[in-house]
Amino acid sequence: MTAPIVRSLPELRAMTKAWHMAGETIGVVPTMGALHDGHLSLVAAAKSRADRVIVTIFVNPKQFNNPEDLANYPRTEHEDARKLERFAVDAIYVPDGDTMYPQGFSTTVSVDGLTDVLCGAHRPGHFDGVATVVTKLFTQTSADLAFFGEKDFQQLQVVRRLARDLDLGVEVVGCPTIREIDGLAMSSRNLLLSDRARVKAPIMHEVMEGIAEALGRGEAMSDLYPAAEKRLMNADFLSIDYLELRACDDLSLLDRPTRPARLFAAAHLAGVRLIDNIDVPLLS
Ligand code: AMP
Repeated sequence: MTAPIVRSLPELRAMTKAWHMAGETIGVVPTMGALHDGHLSLVAAAKSRADRVIVTIFVNPKQFNNPEDLANYPRTEHEDARKLERFAVDAIYVPDGDTMYPQGFSTTVSVDGLTDVLCGAHRPGHFDGVATVVTKLFTQTSADLAFFGEKDFQQLQVVRRLARDLDLGVEVVGCPTIREIDGLAMSSRNLLLSDRARVKAPIMHEVMEGIAEALGRGEAMSDLYPAAEKRLMNADFLSIDYLELRACDDLSLLDRPTRPARLFAAAHLAGVRLIDNIDVPLLS
């Protein structure tokens, strides 16, 4: 069943108002399009939890700190709508730039602390852009539930915090990372990898799994880092933005997983920035 593509906010509001009047819950899945099985797993989770499901597609200029990255970002609306057919979602909301940021738009939502590290430290303004657009999408869609991937774990924590701090009344649900068969985390940016780079890309996840295993045996991150860096460099990764062990809740830096922690990585391969994060066993 083809879902209606909704481009105007008044049209969206008319739909969500009718659903809420009928006592139905609304789940939203915010995306930037170029949908893959990772996105679709969020849609499946939303379908199982909410009476009505809205998938949003908006390539948000405010969260790109690099104009070239924004220009190159894949846009595949027709294909995306086709991929959503089997889920029978209730609406695909595709606002344009003027709907999201009309002339004179001057409000920024900014989450302190959690955004100082990892991608926040390497992509100035990125999380302000994310927090601002997510706040708008939550209010525009009148969502009761919102589904985000652990693939972007820092983003998930930022969104949880803003929903709580601003009393948005949205339950933020985190969903596990979906991977290709060789371990590479699915990402719209994988479409930009050359054939040669695509072969090397899963090495980042492989290196991370090795570190997680060693951390579980009691080794320290600081001792494991040099060999991991060398392996990535040998695999043509040009620069590593970060490869760090951090606490799940407040993202503070750790050397050993003495509290619930994840291993986070971001590195550049043939002009594409790949990010990933995995769970690590807790040291008893
Ligand atoms: P994006 O379109 O990249 O902004 O992603 C939209 C949503 O899909 C975010 O909540 C992402 O965390 C989530 N997502 C992206 N890739 C994956 C993946 N491989 N597995 C699970 N969720 C994902």
